[in-house]
Amino acid sequence: MEVDSKQLHEYLYHYFGFDTFKEKQEEIIQSILIGQDTFVIMPTGGGKSLCYQLPALMLEGTAIIISPLIALMKNQVDSIRGYSQQDNIAHFLNSSLNRTEMRKVKEDIVSGETKLLFIAPETLTKDENIDFFKKVNVSFVAVDEAHCISEWGHDFRPEYRRIKTMIDTIKATIPVIALTATATPKVRVDIIKNLHLKNVAEFITSFNRTNLFYEVRPKLKKDQTFKQIVQIIKKDPGQSGIIYVQARKTTEEIAKVLQVNGIRAAAYHAGLDAKTRAKVQDGFLMEDIDVICATIAFGMGIDKPDVRFVIHYDIPKSIENYYQETGRAGRDGILSSCFSFYSYKDVLRLEKFLRDKPISERLLGAQLLEEIIAYAETSACRRQFLLHYFGEEYKESKCGNLCDNCRTPKEKIEVKDEMLIALQVIETLHEKHGIKLLVDFVLGRSTQESSDFQFGKKKNFGIGKEKEEVFWHSIYRQALLKNLIYKDIEQYGLLKLTPEGREFLINPTEVSITVNHNYDQLASDDAFVTSQKGGSALDTNLVKILKEIRLSVAKQHKVKPWVVFFDPSLEEMATYYPTSIDSLTKISGVSRGKAQRYGEQFVEFIKEYVEENDIIRAEDFVVKQVANKSKMKVSIIQNIDKKIPLDDIASINKISMEDLLDELNIIVNSGTKIDLDYYLEENVDEYVQEDIYEYFMEAESDSIEDAYRELKDDDITREEVQLMRVKFLSNIAN
Ligand SMILES: [Zn+2]
Repeated sequence: MEVDSKQLHEYLYHYFGFDTFKEKQEEIIQSILIGQDTFVIMPTGGGKSLCYQLPALMLEGTAIIISPLIALMKNQVDSIRGYSQQDNIAHFLNSSLNRTEMRKVKEDIVSGETKLLFIAPETLTKDENIDFFKKVNVSFVAVDEAHCISEWGHDFRPEYRRIKTMIDTIKATIPVIALTATATPKVRVDIIKNLHLKNVAEFITSFNRTNLFYEVRPKLKKDQTFKQIVQIIKKDPGQSGIIYVQARKTTEEIAKVLQVNGIRAAAYHAGLDAKTRAKVQDGFLMEDIDVICATIAFGMGIDKPDVRFVIHYDIPKSIENYYQETGRAGRDGILSSCFSFYSYKDVLRLEKFLRDKPISERLLGAQLLEEIIAYAETSACRRQFLLHYFGEEYKESKCGNLCDNCRTPKEKIEVKDEMLIALQVIETLHEKHGIKLLVDFVLGRSTQESSDFQFGKKKNFGIGKEKEEVFWHSIYRQALLKNLIYKDIEQYGLLKLTPEGREFLINPTEVSITVNHNYDQLASDDAFVTSQKGGSALDTNLVKILKEIRLSVAKQHKVKPWVVFFDPSLEEMATYYPTSIDSLTKISGVSRGKAQRYGEQFVEFIKEYVEENDIIRAEDFVVKQVANKSKMKVSIIQNIDKKIPLDDIASINKISMEDLLDELNIIVNSGTKIDLDYYLEENVDEYVQEDIYEYFMEAESDSIEDAYRELKDDDITREEVQLMRVKFLSNIAN
């Protein structure tokens, strides 16, 4: 079918009531109308579905739209029916229909009334359906969410890989249109290959979401991170937002914290029954709920234009996931924010999940993770990084300070010599390795791989060992961004030199970069925490004085300062201003015993300070904690009172010993005493007990890691350190 632009605009107005097309829509529709295979990459909110809806309505026959989710199909069918007088203009065919309903759908198709049929790939593959489609007039097949075809995408669906075979069985000449909102170059290649798109017309719209602000913050202890989330939301109350969380339990925890702080929030995850989920979703759309704390199950098919923020409490598994989820913010084009909390520990947890997967999936997952880590740790423009990932060039100056790294840039350093070394190493090793091994090589690390590849015998092995790992990572990462090297996507991400990179080897030029953030270090750095809390009620001046008081109280009691109160507790005091022993016990990490033993001087001083400075407690910013009534914690404490062996307690609660020890340490951190003597007597050598106890008496911090590092040479295990830390804190600190 051929129509000119004027006619096409008339059709658009007739069917949808719009005067103009959004960018590239017109060309895409023309391509479909003339029966060409077409590939559309358009970010969410760009008007992707109109690209197949309009030609479907114009062309003879029925267009088959393949879509991965039943819920999504229903929304789309409803939306097209909304534009039309007749319900039978669009139907879906899936397992939710009964026999009679299915028959009705097929009748409407045969009679030519149905222009769009939404179908899941599983339904398409059924023989009876294939036979049916052979007999009717199919105008074209649209494969929506086409990235599901690729294992390299973020939503791989094996059944998507069979689509082409099905289409060929129906009629090999049916034109195919593939559409997706995210696709890296690798995924693009996969889609085109798998669908055998011939002479394909490709339309790629920019991935730049100019109205989104990106920021990554170090993830601190749970309470502190919750507090930051409350502060982010309270800065601009009443706005819609989504908080993405990995674990179901945490969605509920965060929702509760938000609720007690006066925020209309709800949890959403696959463990809730369908009715509750629908209620939450409707509540969000109807604005009875402002904030949804959700696992990734939430958001597919949610098209709320005014979502003002998306927060990732856990780092997502891939950049595609991140882009997709943050993309739900600001669809109306108004400035919206995307915050992520990042800690390397979360990455380790995600890696743990990968361990049980088959090898190919594991390699793939690891590579996707590597990219998201690089994104989180980069100190370069985040927008540039994202766009580069999706194969787009982008000049940093255009970000307009809409990412944290552009807003507060780190100082740049000149790295001509080091860049040269980094590229030379790639050349020496014949472009056969990924970033991890290259960095190992430069640092001269002896690992299994480096001995397998006999790195030690090669020139320049260990040439960069004076510098840290994060430095060399930054060099390779920025070499990618600066197009000196590229990642060979066909070959598991091996780093290779570009022509520009080869030119650099012969003729090196000045090059300056910023070194990546080290978030784990930042997380333990007080100064950073304080500066990140801009606008909060945290009184940094008071924190400083409270630290001095802590030092003198510690001296009086002949203990280390951290035994008196932890830093986070002091920070909380500088937020709540507790002026009595009673209110002091409300601070997290402060038990009644601790408040009575050490608290006097603190509350006396705070009382004076509040009066002198005319401080009115800013209720708005007071972040209340949910009383921790977690069933498991209670059960653990009760069982320890009954002197039940720890391994049994672990199995009662269906957790590992490792997790149990973590729980115990969390419990004592929050100020509860635990008496483990019954277990220690049986299980930990008396001398070992003494060694660890003495260590903590002298130690500068309560860190398990530090203790373990110090003691492991004396054949002391991490488990023993954790056990003794519980005992020590219970005796001395709580
Ligand atoms: Zn930027």
